[in-house]
Amino acid sequence: MAADSFPEIRHAVRRLCADFPGPYWQEKDRERAYPVEFVAALTAAGFLSVLIPQSHGGSGLGLGAATAILEEIHRSGANGGACHAQMYVMGTLLKHGSAAQQAAWLPGIASGALRLQAFAVTEPGSGTDTSRIRTFARRDGDDYVVSGQKIWISRAEHSDLMVLLVRTTPREAVARPGDGMSVLLVDLRTAVGNGLTIRPIRTMLNHATTELFFDDLRVPVANLIGEEGSGFRYILDGMNAERVLIASECIGDARFFIDRAAAYAADRNVFGRAIGENQGVQFPIARAHVQMSAAALMVDHAAALFDAGMPCGTEANMAKLLASEASWFAADMCVQTHGGFGFAEGYDIERKFRETRLYQVAPISTNLILSHVATHVLKLPKSF
Ligand SMILES: Cc1cc2nc3c(=O)[nH]c(=O)nc-3n(C[C@H](O)[C@H](O)[C@H](O)COP(=O)(O)OP(=O)(O)OC[C@H]3O[C@@H](n4cnc5c(N)ncnc54)[C@H](O)[C@@H]3O)c2cc1C
Repeated sequence: MAADSFPEIRHAVRRLCADFPGPYWQEKDRERAYPVEFVAALTAAGFLSVLIPQSHGGSGLGLGAATAILEEIHRSGANGGACHAQMYVMGTLLKHGSAAQQAAWLPGIASGALRLQAFAVTEPGSGTDTSRIRTFARRDGDDYVVSGQKIWISRAEHSDLMVLLVRTTPREAVARPGDGMSVLLVDLRTAVGNGLTIRPIRTMLNHATTELFFDDLRVPVANLIGEEGSGFRYILDGMNAERVLIASECIGDARFFIDRAAAYAADRNVFGRAIGENQGVQFPIARAHVQMSAAALMVDHAAALFDAGMPCGTEANMAKLLASEASWFAADMCVQTHGGFGFAEGYDIERKFRETRLYQVAPISTNLILSHVATHVLKLPKSF
């Protein structure tokens, strides 16, 4: 997002983030603890409900505003991964839920009283090939009975509700691999201990990610979103917003690394002069800025298409690819510019370095984006 868009929102986000400086994030990272206070402050300020229409209690500002918020969070050194999904997971409900479901859930989500920030698609046995998920929901009277397993489901321990993709018809019994999947809204407050077990996974970054085990969990049929069997399409619909938002976090990360590197290079004296006077130090910082600026234009473009209601699958993918590569280049450059201090916990750079690496893998890996561009845009033959 252009750094001067939504100036008032950006200013307010920066002010809020100033209350959560490096030591706050360092401690959370060390303890692998959830940043409860930060998420509460963002919620209270209304920043997580900008995509919810005013008629349902949100501010209805659109994806452009949401990208400005996440970018500023990340530029400040904070991490929006703790709560970014509260912004967009509700999109499935907003777009495909019934009027009754929307009235029942969206106002609570908009106020923050209800946290819908868990989104369960990935399974250990299916990987990126979502059509091979095996978690199955069998109809039994007014309930679905869910059995199976999910992996890498982030924030499930810090969410009241979860969007869950299941099979309702086996893959072998449908015409197209993407058919026969359905979306259920799971109330985690009652599910845990009654057929759902959540097990945290410790990772190289503080991301509150988990494994889920479903053992005959009962979910009311009233919580089916849209039509049974059409769930894969609904999930795909929601992915564009997610990719653009994650891309904006990468832009924020890249700006963080560039800001820090430029300041350090101007200040650090070695051999009697600022290291930033050496072009070997300057040029990587400049290159990171060039790459970040180009990626930011693609993020803007994808967000503008989304807000105009236009197709934006390819642009959202390309924005995520460019932004995640720009942030990773900037992260590596920033460590190098700082020399030994790049590895010190107190500088926040090693933490942000670990955090920004995620985005070349999740929510979709670089190869799968290249595959999309190759086959959908360039019409090359499909390899799978
Ligand atoms: C910290 C974290 C948080 C996450 N949060 C969530 C979440 O909240 N909800 C959720 O549902 N999922 C979540 N995920 C899962 C994430 O979306 C997946 O990890 C990601 O999509 C990659 O899938 P995979 O790990 O199964 O990799 P795989 O599909 O096993 O792929 C492994 C590697 O092989 C490559 N590859 C696979 N197939 C091909 C091919 N045909 N051509 C070329 N290359 C290929 C991939 O690009 C990748 O690099 C999270 C993951 C992590 C690590």
